[in-house]
Amino acid sequence: MSIAQNILELKESLPKGVELVAVTKTHPLKLLQEAYAAGQKQFGENRVQEMGEKQTLLPKDIRWHLIGHLQTNKVREVASYISLIHSVDSIRLLEEINKQALKNGRTIDCLLQIFIASEETKFGLEIREAEALLHSGVFGLLKNIRVRGLMGMATNTPDTHLVRKEFASLRAFFESLKKEPSTPNFQPDILSMGMSSDYRIAISEGSTLIRVGSAIFGQR
Ligand SMILES: *Cc1c(COP(=O)(O)O)cnc(C)c1O
Repeated sequence: MSIAQNILELKESLPKGVELVAVTKTHPLKLLQEAYAAGQKQFGENRVQEMGEKQTLLPKDIRWHLIGHLQTNKVREVASYISLIHSVDSIRLLEEINKQALKNGRTIDCLLQIFIASEETKFGLEIREAEALLHSGVFGLLKNIRVRGLMGMATNTPDTHLVRKEFASLRAFFESLKKEPSTPNFQPDILSMGMSSDYRIAISEGSTLIRVGSAIFGQR
């Protein structure tokens, strides 16, 4: 199967309201150009430098998603063009994004990365930490960011029951946030969950945005 066919079939299978981010990390420009030619205009990368190099060389109507961990000192490099940062896991990082967004005369959309897996991972907020962040006085002052929702990764396991349970817990938190009053910098409408191995489960548990790499481009 070609990349174009993979993308078209995948998109065709998505219910209305679910968007596809094609995860292109480690792949050469040529494959991104193939995906672009097939109509794919949202790409996800996990490294700031790699994304920056690709961004300068590819068409400007591509929406770039940062899905990997972001260090505070790297925010500056993405602030002029990033479309959505999926991996916000501290108020400090959010403050830096706000600062760099302001310098670029933009508002940057962000998701809070929530820790839902039962395996040890380094990044992500606990649900109660995310609540504390959103209710902190500092958050209210950040005018150049907008929290658009949540991102989470399920445990990497064949146990689909566990994966479903983890996605359901993220969905429940997302729904609870949607009930809170929205403000200029808090407008939750994106639930980023699901990768190649589990996006079908994620969609059935309410995902609005899936991040798919190997199912489109093959193994990295
Ligand atoms: C690499 C990656 C993906 C895509 O993984 P695939 O298994 O190739 O679909 C999705 N989300 C994040 C955060 C990733 O790092």
